[in-house]
Amino acid sequence: MTVRTRFAPSPTGYLPIGGVRTALFCWLFARRHGGKFVLRIDDTDRQRNVDEALDPILRGLEWLGIDWDEGPEVGGPHGSYYQSQRTGLHQAAVEKLLADGFAYRDYATTEEIQAEREAARERKESFAYSRRFMAETPDQQAAFEAEGRSAVVRLKMPRQGKLVIDDLVRGQVGFEWVQEQDHVIQRADGSCLYHLASVVDDHDLRITHVIRAEEHLSNTPRQVFIARSLGYELPRYAHLPFVAEPGSKVKLSKRKLTKYLKTRDFAQLVDHGREIAEAIHLETNPETFNPVLVSFYRQVGYLPEAIINYLALLGWSLDDKTEHFSREQLVEAFSLERVNKAPASFDPKKLSAIQQRHMLELPITRKAALVLPYLRKAGLVCSESPSELEPKLTMVLEALGDRLKVAGDIIAYADFFFMPDDRMPYDEKAFQKRLGKPEAPELLARFRDQLAEAEPFDAEPLEKLLHEFVESEGIKIGQIIHSIRIAVTGKAFGPGMFDCLAILGQDACLARIDRALARL
Ligand code: GLU
Repeated sequence: MTVRTRFAPSPTGYLPIGGVRTALFCWLFARRHGGKFVLRIDDTDRQRNVDEALDPILRGLEWLGIDWDEGPEVGGPHGSYYQSQRTGLHQAAVEKLLADGFAYRDYATTEEIQAEREAARERKESFAYSRRFMAETPDQQAAFEAEGRSAVVRLKMPRQGKLVIDDLVRGQVGFEWVQEQDHVIQRADGSCLYHLASVVDDHDLRITHVIRAEEHLSNTPRQVFIARSLGYELPRYAHLPFVAEPGSKVKLSKRKLTKYLKTRDFAQLVDHGREIAEAIHLETNPETFNPVLVSFYRQVGYLPEAIINYLALLGWSLDDKTEHFSREQLVEAFSLERVNKAPASFDPKKLSAIQQRHMLELPITRKAALVLPYLRKAGLVCSESPSELEPKLTMVLEALGDRLKVAGDIIAYADFFFMPDDRMPYDEKAFQKRLGKPEAPELLARFRDQLAEAEPFDAEPLEKLLHEFVESEGIKIGQIIHSIRIAVTGKAFGPGMFDCLAILGQDACLARIDRALARL
């Protein structure tokens, strides 16, 4: 048997962390077993602009490298992968269920059903519809229709006995049939409901493993009933634990960002992101700029492999210590047996740690490719220049070392490398603090004269030059080094000073020091 899994998002316009985690587990399981990962679009709500609402989902999965073997844009042998285009198959399944007595036409009004429900509640009994308006023959149908009634189609659910599902994550889960209702599978307007459509599509797409979020566990009995009644072989089920809010068991939701921002780690994550967004003129509307959504990480410059690594650990573990995985290692190691039953809390701090570790391992050439778009969007480099920029960018990235946590950090730490000498802004507070001291300008001017003679203009000899200067002036290094940094970089922090000087080059350093001195 070839393993076939599916991720079945509705086109909502965004891709939340929890959804990707589900997609990732489906993908990992398929890849682990040499199977196929299918993307099915659950668009039965007939919204307009499906393509527009689907695009962020497809592009998000693509960015993460969660590639689908069958589905939108790639097609496949099993017909349309859009639920809305499979309605004929759904209708045919309803007809078959009706013909075989597993479903019936029901002519009750919503009010009549509601009244029965109320009555059961008053009697403190669990509700089981009387099937009073069930029509099983054409005559009965005609009679109800003569009263001006219209029918929905309901499942004729068993009312005794028990269903036991052998869930690949949760083990044996039992359901009493009597707790199930005669669920509607077709509305009066002829459209089919999701549960029916989902079961039919899973069957037609030959899905062997339905791996999905825990919230669908309670839908499973009715789906099993439909599948069995249609004579389908059942897929295996695996219900994944929620991705929960930080420090709680409640499902993570994009709508509760304001609440999460009250926790320090979340606030830090968002502040960091906002700084980057501001530098690249990006909107920070919580509809897309929200750490509950994948788009946030992409915009800020996280590595897809770090996100994948972190999401894999949201609910799965190999053992109690290994936290660093490449994509290949995950495919190799993944198993549903090691998925937890308990909800996994989203932890921004752990995500950052994993991101940093992946960033450290990244070859400079890939780092350069990642930061370049940020420099462009910030208007620091123009699009014509990448090849002549490369040597400089490599040096800058080497000087930055592990300061670069996400690609967007390039702006905060290294923008000054790419600015014209006469337009670099200063951190005014730091400027006043360092160069406002009485002796500072003269010291800086004297060091400038030394710099003008320096040859070669490399980090090591420059460091030596400064030490000699400090000694001959009889001052402490702290009395000069901060003035140089603020004059040359405009900032109070950044990569190693001597690397900065060397990368900028002699002319730029002299020009920047002159400009700073002239401001005083
Ligand atoms: N479209 C459903 C959802 O997004 C899929 C449910 C399922 O996996 O069966 O929740």
